[in-house]
Amino acid sequence: MRVKLLSHTNDPEKIVAAAARCCYSNDDPDNLLESLTDDRVEKFLSKLVEMKHESPFEHASFTFSISGVSRALLAQITRHRVASFSVRSQRYCEFKDADFVLPDSISRDPRASEIYLESLKNLKSTYDSLLEFGIPKEDSRMILPNAAETSMVLTMNARELLHFFSLRCCSRAQWEIRAVANEMLKLVKNVAPNLFRRAGANCIRLGYCPEGKMSCGKFPTLEQILNDFNERKSNQ
Ligand SMILES: Cc1cc2nc3c(=O)[nH]c(=O)nc-3n(C[C@H](O)[C@H](O)[C@H](O)COP(=O)(O)OP(=O)(O)OC[C@H]3O[C@@H](n4cnc5c(N)ncnc54)[C@H](O)[C@@H]3O)c2cc1C
Repeated sequence: MRVKLLSHTNDPEKIVAAAARCCYSNDDPDNLLESLTDDRVEKFLSKLVEMKHESPFEHASFTFSISGVSRALLAQITRHRVASFSVRSQRYCEFKDADFVLPDSISRDPRASEIYLESLKNLKSTYDSLLEFGIPKEDSRMILPNAAETSMVLTMNARELLHFFSLRCCSRAQWEIRAVANEMLKLVKNVAPNLFRRAGANCIRLGYCPEGKMSCGKFPTLEQILNDFNERKSNQ
């Protein structure tokens, strides 16, 4: 799996701070950027993060290339509607090399690996035969499994990224999309550390876990916080 930050809004932290300042300042919006020092940008962003005033974050966009991931990952990541995707087409591109994702749980087990790899080999050989029979790529691909590798270019604005990280960096998310999300988080934190200061799974953002009974237990759930509070109150 490879994740690369291809491009992003110039000076993303400054543009978000300038957009937010436009809400509170009588200054001419044309001059918002000039009057913002690095120190003021940092203070502004920290205030926005604390207040959860996230709409100005939509002014900064980040574009990634993601490759060597499964079609199973594709099905999950494309559920995030406030994002733009360009995905390698199985209609136009031939699935040439037998590139399939091999989960650790399978690679660790020699018997599981053997039947998994054998099945993939058979599927690939059926795919190749269908193409040889003159079946179009768009129909031959029907035999390809979830494990088939794909690549995409993905753009999200910083607000959507915060939301994406809150769901997909969580230990409840499936390992492959969690690995992609963690890699994306690392990359954006490098270029915009103040924008993504509190980014991560919901527990990192909120300080508690909203997953209820599904919680991994690292952070208290809202219910536990409320129960503790009520217990302390009744003991007073
Ligand atoms: C651990 C986990 C397990 C999952 N399991 C399943 C599953 O079993 N089955 C399944 O189908 N999906 C599953 N999903 C996918 C999940 O239901 C969401 O589709 C996915 O996480 C995208 O989230 P989203 O809609 O909040 O994000 P986005 O589509 O990126 O939207 C961001 C936010 O914009 C707003 N928004 C976007 N579109 C609309 C709209 N049309 N109307 C109103 N508000 C909108 C919402 O506030 C939304 O939270 C799972 C996700 C996770 C993280």
